Amino acid sequence: MSQPFAIAVHGGAGTILREQMTPELHQEITETLARAVQAGETLLRTGADALDAAVVAVKVLEDSPLFNAGKGSVLTHTEMVEMDASVMHGKQMDAGAVAGIKHIKNPIELAKDVMLDSEHVMLIGEGAEKFAFENGHDYTEQDYFYTERRYEQLMSMKQKGQFALSESKYPDDKKYGTVGAVALDKQGNLAAATSTGGITNKQYGRVGDTAIIGAGTFAENGNVAVSTTGMGEYFIRKTVASDVAARMRYLKEDIHQACESVIQGELKTMGGEGGLIAVDAQGNIHFAMNSSGMYRASLNSDNELLVKIYADE
Ligand code: ASP
Repeated sequence: MSQPFAIAVHGGAGTILREQMTPELHQEITETLARAVQAGETLLRTGADALDAAVVAVKVLEDSPLFNAGKGSVLTHTEMVEMDASVMHGKQMDAGAVAGIKHIKNPIELAKDVMLDSEHVMLIGEGAEKFAFENGHDYTEQDYFYTERRYEQLMSMKQKGQFALSESKYPDDKKYGTVGAVALDKQGNLAAATSTGGITNKQYGRVGDTAIIGAGTFAENGNVAVSTTGMGEYFIRKTVASDVAARMRYLKEDIHQACESVIQGELKTMGGEGGLIAVDAQGNIHFAMNSSGMYRASLNSDNELLVKIYADE
């Protein structure tokens, strides 16, 4: 039997309410999610590395205005885009992360370059962008990221004096989510990649879990790769992604038990709304969420494509 491989993506846990979903939007979202896993799967089938597949899948979602990452990122209090991203490769437990990125089209590629071409794990703000330009990334104007919908969303949050993540909490808010991917390649490598614009109306250089290895992103060969989405303030404090891995490693829980314990446990009690995607060393995929939905898709070596939005699907 040939070596299994698998890939899963998410487009965020802040899903649009059913009553506000149109057939056109539903189709656009599901097609983009499918395109993302297919881009990763095409690489995995030819024997490519798990991280390359995860990054390619995330790039498809970053390039779409539908999701809160890259193009389509939410706006900060000062009407700017400030993006966070991270990657982890499970073989050597290498990792790269960036935060507060304003002028790079695909922050996920920059996070990967930090992992591969710097001595460091995490670079932020102007320094991260200096590193980016020195390493061949183009300067992208803020205008590229700007969408009318995000501006309206910011104005509504400002009026209410709130900052926001979840469609279910602020149903009039029409917002989408952070994106991420996890992959298992034919060599048995596990990798995870996560990218976001963060939360609407954020200020003071706020950074969420998406940039934090162990909170938003984690991968460990022989065990599991995890990418999360949700209110980062909770996911950081509960070190969500590495907690899933720790439960599997020490408690010998399977991927289903570990993900559900973390997402439905103390995190939820504390108010940490959100979800995660995970793939284990055998290619089993699990989606967990305590929100009303999470944009998600997966594809495995048997060519089984799955695309879902709501929690009860
Ligand atoms: N986790 C992200 C953050 O807190 C937001 C999201 O998942 O949509 O920045």
